[in-house]
Amino acid sequence: MRDETKCLHSGYTPKNGEPRVMPIVQSTTYVFDSTEHIGQLFDMPTEYMYSRFANPTVDAVEKKIADLEGGVGAMCTSSGQAASLFSILNLCNAGDSFISTSTIYGGTVNLFAVTLKKLGIECIFVDAEADEETIQKAFKPNTRCVFGETLANPALAVLDIEKFAKIAHKNDVPLIIDNTFATPILCKPIEFGADIVVHSTSKYMDGHALQIGGVIVDSGKFNWANGKFPEFTEPDESYHGVIYTKDFGEMAYIIKARMQLMRDFGAYPAAHSAFLLNLGLETLPIRMERYCENALKVARFLQASDKIESVSYAALPGDKYHELAKKYLPKGTCGVISITIKGGKAAAVRFMDGLKLASNEVHVADIRTCVLHPASATHRQLTDEQLIAAGVNPGLIRLSVGLENVEDIIADLEQSLKNV
Ligand SMILES: *Cc1c(COP(=O)(O)O)cnc(C)c1O
Repeated sequence: MRDETKCLHSGYTPKNGEPRVMPIVQSTTYVFDSTEHIGQLFDMPTEYMYSRFANPTVDAVEKKIADLEGGVGAMCTSSGQAASLFSILNLCNAGDSFISTSTIYGGTVNLFAVTLKKLGIECIFVDAEADEETIQKAFKPNTRCVFGETLANPALAVLDIEKFAKIAHKNDVPLIIDNTFATPILCKPIEFGADIVVHSTSKYMDGHALQIGGVIVDSGKFNWANGKFPEFTEPDESYHGVIYTKDFGEMAYIIKARMQLMRDFGAYPAAHSAFLLNLGLETLPIRMERYCENALKVARFLQASDKIESVSYAALPGDKYHELAKKYLPKGTCGVISITIKGGKAAAVRFMDGLKLASNEVHVADIRTCVLHPASATHRQLTDEQLIAAGVNPGLIRLSVGLENVEDIIADLEQSLKNV
């Protein structure tokens, strides 16, 4: 099946007389005939047991997303932040380190630099554009993985995924890619060597600003038995001696994440949230196509305006990341554009407050056009140094082009630019 078909049919295939649509299984628990059966499930959770870590409605969505990304399995989480957190905690313990590019989402920077540090896990930030030798120097004997974003939020830098996969694999560690902005419709990081893919499904995947969610996808390709990951190859005493690589093969990573992290932390989405996410996924390919089309027109309009200092949109010829975009995002670079208005922060605020159709909100990748000033919102907690490292100019505006008629979007931007 191709993407459009997978979005409608993967994950749930009704049998004779069953509902056309995957129902919302709104139940915390499941019933079994015997005590013995339940006992066996505690050894090997092959059936639904408790909705803190598995539920049929969520499972259908997990299978669909795994299929779209080209992975062997997936696990949904109650937020994108939880997906990023678990993707790292599944590999790193106190005393370990990992490497991340600095051009990542502000919330992830804070999670990695502040909260994981409190747990004894060190994140070493590297410049995504540094050469291989420089990045190599950041590795330590305790480095367990490398993390980056396909299309960085909000800098809109395109990551050279193959370069990072090569460096990670040379060091026997996996590459984790946050593919939120691209979605598997515009880029499939596993095809370029990524081992694990994470998403905030709150963005384009849901697409309608209805619910917060995340997902982790396992490519099934990484060799966990290379000597660097004893937790995968030695018995897990908290699960009756399960050995993840031996008992689950290519699903080792994602099953370990579910059996250890989801069981203990319980950041699992509700069935109803998964149902809504599935509705978004059904139209994802057609929506992504239109987001890209609208945003390119808007980017061209903004580029021509004398009120605008700079426009970052990788699909624009001449953009710093245009060549990388041609390779990794040939179908388009999503609906998000970063702009810097002449006149700094004051002008940016005036422009944003003058918009009538586009709303000022803490969100991105919504179906409706919206704007946000990262330096005073999502990236507020970052120091000026961190802001610059994340590619965030204090006057930068993140414009998320929606699916309204593009002429209406442009007319709104035009009327507000007049007042700047
Ligand atoms: C929004 C976002 C996150 C965090 O996701 P939530 O669902 O808000 O927790 C992570 N990564 C990227 C790239 C994001 O845009």
